Amino acid sequence: MSATVKKHTPQDFIFKQELGHGAYSTVYKALDKRNLKKAYAIKVCSKNHIIKENKVKYVNIEKNTLNLLGKTNHPGIIKLYYTFHDKQNLYFVLDYAKGGELLSLLHIQTNGTFDELYSKHFMVQIIDTLEYIHSCGIIHRDLKPENLLLDKWGKLMITDFGAASPPANMSTCSSFVGTAEYVSPELLLFNQCKFASDVWALGCILYQFINGTPPFRGENELKTFEKIVSLDYPWNNNNNNLLLHPNNNTANLTNPQIINLTRKILTLNPNDRITIPNIKLHPWFNDINWQDKDSIWRGIWQ
Ligand code: ATP
Repeated sequence: MSATVKKHTPQDFIFKQELGHGAYSTVYKALDKRNLKKAYAIKVCSKNHIIKENKVKYVNIEKNTLNLLGKTNHPGIIKLYYTFHDKQNLYFVLDYAKGGELLSLLHIQTNGTFDELYSKHFMVQIIDTLEYIHSCGIIHRDLKPENLLLDKWGKLMITDFGAASPPANMSTCSSFVGTAEYVSPELLLFNQCKFASDVWALGCILYQFINGTPPFRGENELKTFEKIVSLDYPWNNNNNNLLLHPNNNTANLTNPQIINLTRKILTLNPNDRITIPNIKLHPWFNDINWQDKDSIWRGIWQ
């Protein structure tokens, strides 16, 4: 017995507002005509543009990675339902993250910061998801607040797997991808990218939640890179500028456990960097029961 599977087309959907665009795609909210209650985010990638900009590799990586990660329904991963294409475009039909970018939420808070409770809440969801991603043999390689979206309940979802390293190439991978401020020292110094490089980005995000800006930020990319490889950021133990830094009072006001954890993450040598299992054992997370997924995955609007 053979069943004919109907191919999807753009005509199956009602395209609503644009949600955003990336380097080679535009993302729209869309409703399925057969079930108008169900909203999707459809990422539309122009074939011409992808070929012209040499992005075919990245589009394939994103599709394969989302397919692999979607095999179990982890709440922290944007689900890819299916893909289809027509003459002009490729279409990725994704979970619609109704709550938008976490960064927008961060921007409406005072000074672009979260309080300790919110910071911990989101860190726990990122860590649980990152642990899952790594357990599938995948390095995200471009973890940053812009790639953290919220669903309608305010649960966090990691997106943008266009830079991820496929499992076949899991131990190390070279070439600069990612965003200057979150890039790891091992990538800058040795062209290496490891699971620990995602952990580095995690430390940058934690610092940013508490302080409102990433730890390493120069006037240009080169200055930012110089700061990263010399571990020049305000909470560094050996940083003489600590007392002079304009944000210096955040160091006085911040829970020392957060500073301690950030220092353990922002370690130049990736082999000395704290690992995810040990992050989960850090005293700042003493009140978290990592086995209790329902409590970890509460949304902030639930
Ligand atoms: P690039 O791929 O160039 O790094 P990007 O990851 O920002 O850029 P996209 O994945 O195309 O590019 O997303 C562009 C924007 O669209 C995002 O920043 C986000 O605001 C919005 N967006 C993406 N996916 C979704 C989604 N599933 N639900 C809601 N909004 C989304």
